[in-house]
Amino acid sequence: MDASPSGVTDTARTVQADVAGACDDGTRYAGDAGPTVWSTSMTVLDDYLARTPRSRQLFERATASLPGGSTRTTVYTAPYPPYVASGDGLRIRDVDGNEYRDFLGNYTSLILGHAHPAVVAAVEAQVRRGSAFAAPTETEVELAEEIRRRVPSIERLRFTSSGTEATMFAIRAARAHTGRSLIAKFERSYHGTHDAVMAGTAGVPAVMDGLVVELPWGDPAGVESALRGREGELAAILIEPVQGAGGVRAAGTEFLTFLRDLCDRTGALLIFDEIISFRVAPGGAQERFDVRPDMTTLGKIIGGGYPLAAFGGRADVMSVFDARRSGAISHGGTFNGSPVAAAAGLATLRELAPATYGRLDDLGERLRSRTTATIERDGLDARIATVGSLFQVFPGRSTSSSSGATATAFATGVDSGPGLFLALLLDGVYLAPRGMGAIPAIATERDVDDLADAIGRALVSIGLTRAAEPATA
Ligand code: PLP
Repeated sequence: MDASPSGVTDTARTVQADVAGACDDGTRYAGDAGPTVWSTSMTVLDDYLARTPRSRQLFERATASLPGGSTRTTVYTAPYPPYVASGDGLRIRDVDGNEYRDFLGNYTSLILGHAHPAVVAAVEAQVRRGSAFAAPTETEVELAEEIRRRVPSIERLRFTSSGTEATMFAIRAARAHTGRSLIAKFERSYHGTHDAVMAGTAGVPAVMDGLVVELPWGDPAGVESALRGREGELAAILIEPVQGAGGVRAAGTEFLTFLRDLCDRTGALLIFDEIISFRVAPGGAQERFDVRPDMTTLGKIIGGGYPLAAFGGRADVMSVFDARRSGAISHGGTFNGSPVAAAAGLATLRELAPATYGRLDDLGERLRSRTTATIERDGLDARIATVGSLFQVFPGRSTSSSSGATATAFATGVDSGPGLFLALLLDGVYLAPRGMGAIPAIATERDVDDLADAIGRALVSIGLTRAAEPATA
């Protein structure tokens, strides 16, 4: 591709070379998606570099303190992410003054957008009363009651600071309750980063491999066969009723009902990880698909933009955490049930009237149909999946793989080409580097139409027209 008038392409090539080999330990940089993505998007990269000099400076400064320049794998993208300065409603601004419409909302957690007045007021009021105590507060009781009102299967719950802790403790509860060790989870699932759900990855002892079975998605016969002979060891089946990181796909009522029956037959617990899917109905995906799990994990929106998650379910299972009992499972956590986060979560859930969910569904469907029409009209090699307000753009054929190895990379974002992400940034739209997003309740129909049009333009600008596909592909 020719050099841009600014001559930035040379810089782009240098940056490409830098990021391809820039790991401190000399290993090849995991975020480098290889020459294909870059060769189709060198102009996009040029433009991005030209518009984000201060982010680049910050990134270079940050790598001296933080591996990869940040504290979270999923916010990295090559050549470096924009560093964000502020957010307000749907808009965020980076340190170079570029403005984006944020359709990621901190990975689906900001369902009311940034700095929503009701949330800010609740947080301000709580902060003035104190931010953390070594004692329970009325706010966490109120949030627990609000969650129980929405989700009847949650008879008792506990708060944590992150979704990772929530799935970790849900699994521990299931193991304690059943006296069994085996956990089953699904291909392309993402449940956080503790050992049980990251078995098979670096740093997790190999012994964990024997305690986790991976199941095929939406395939009852495949599930039965993967578990055959080990049913008596099974403590729990863990499933996202709508996979988020795995590509926004719904398990659906039939498959979830099959899992419900299987758990009833085998004596295992059914755990729904609704950390992302809770936004698809007032009572989450379990309400939408009408299947009752034994345990549920929640996160993201229930903290209203602050660090808070939860696990809960049947009272008899959750009683293992009842500190009045001898032998209760220790569930520490300095910031569990943070009153600030609980105030933000409560304010958020109170804003989410039942009608809001219908509107979010309509906006999701609007995005799907408009984007699909553009993809078809312009002959683009891409597709979009939506469930309610959650969406995933799949650019090109390479993302259709469902192998386990690809799934892990997919879930953590390291296998995603940066082309789509950068092209959308240049058009003023912020999604996950891997193409996932969530429409917040404050978005208008116009915002959604603009998003669909921007996705179409971005796919064209990174060369994903069908004519560009190799004939043998
Ligand atoms: N479970 C699901 C379904 C998630 O999407 C996530 C995070 O994205 C987690 C668990 C982990 O939550 P956290 O990042 O708060 O630890």
